[in-house]
Amino acid sequence: MAVTPARSGRPGAAWAELEEPTQAELDSCPFCEGRESRTPPEVLALPAGSREPDTPGWSVRVVPNKFPAFEGHEVVVHAPTHVRSLVELQPAQITLIAEAWRRRAATAREEGFPHLFAGVNEGYRAGASLHHSHSQLIRLRDEPPLQATEHNGGACRLCEYLAWERAGGTRVVVERDGLVLLCHYAGRAPYECLVAPLEHEADGFESALLADGLALAAEALQRLRTAEGPRPANLWLHARGHWHLELLPRLTTFAAIELGTGHYVNSLPPEVAAATLRG
Ligand SMILES: [Zn+2]
Ligand SMILES: [Zn+2]
Ligand SMILES: [Zn+2]
Repeated sequence: MAVTPARSGRPGAAWAELEEPTQAELDSCPFCEGRESRTPPEVLALPAGSREPDTPGWSVRVVPNKFPAFEGHEVVVHAPTHVRSLVELQPAQITLIAEAWRRRAATAREEGFPHLFAGVNEGYRAGASLHHSHSQLIRLRDEPPLQATEHNGGACRLCEYLAWERAGGTRVVVERDGLVLLCHYAGRAPYECLVAPLEHEADGFESALLADGLALAAEALQRLRTAEGPRPANLWLHARGHWHLELLPRLTTFAAIELGTGHYVNSLPPEVAAATLRG
């Protein structure tokens, strides 16, 4: 990673925004309550109750992806109303999303897929095609390569890393309830954040802190919104190793240097990003 504040004048000037929904989007959204027939039949709805499947009355709904990229590719619709960001959801709603992830991971494991990848895209720039807030779940028989490289044997590097960051403190945004939110020292783009449990926990889907971790990632988005306005972002869970959530706001575009060399040119030092998010 290279930090080059001089590249960009006032850094926020040209940053991508999270757009407002259009009327056409609101009129056609298949994820809004009342349009359950426009998705494949649901595989889970929360809270569990006596409601008929594929009818209104749900808070979080999981359906197969209509255009699957992988076997067992599912979508978790985060709310019955049309919201575009986790920022717009109440904590109880985020708890249900985490519960949906957990239950679908358990089902995937029962069906022979030890690994479930959960990710969120907010905004065009972050790759969202449908903008109603949702997460993508992908079942994998082998560990995702990027996650696997993070914990290939020996002592836990994330435990060491968190100890180092907490001793320094300049990139820590907040610590709460056994979790830390920090701006990664090697952030690939402005405000790249990490949410992780302070104590080593090897399975995110089994963790009692998963919902709080997701809520803390949503809080990071809220802090970013307060500081810089609504912005596109990617968020994902690395569930194994020492589980954590990675939040990558997509304020800038990766181009030839980043994609071809792996050297990410970041116009905002993570210490400055953390100070801004701390408020
Ligand atoms: Zn919608
Ligand atoms: Zn660890
Ligand atoms: Zn990771």
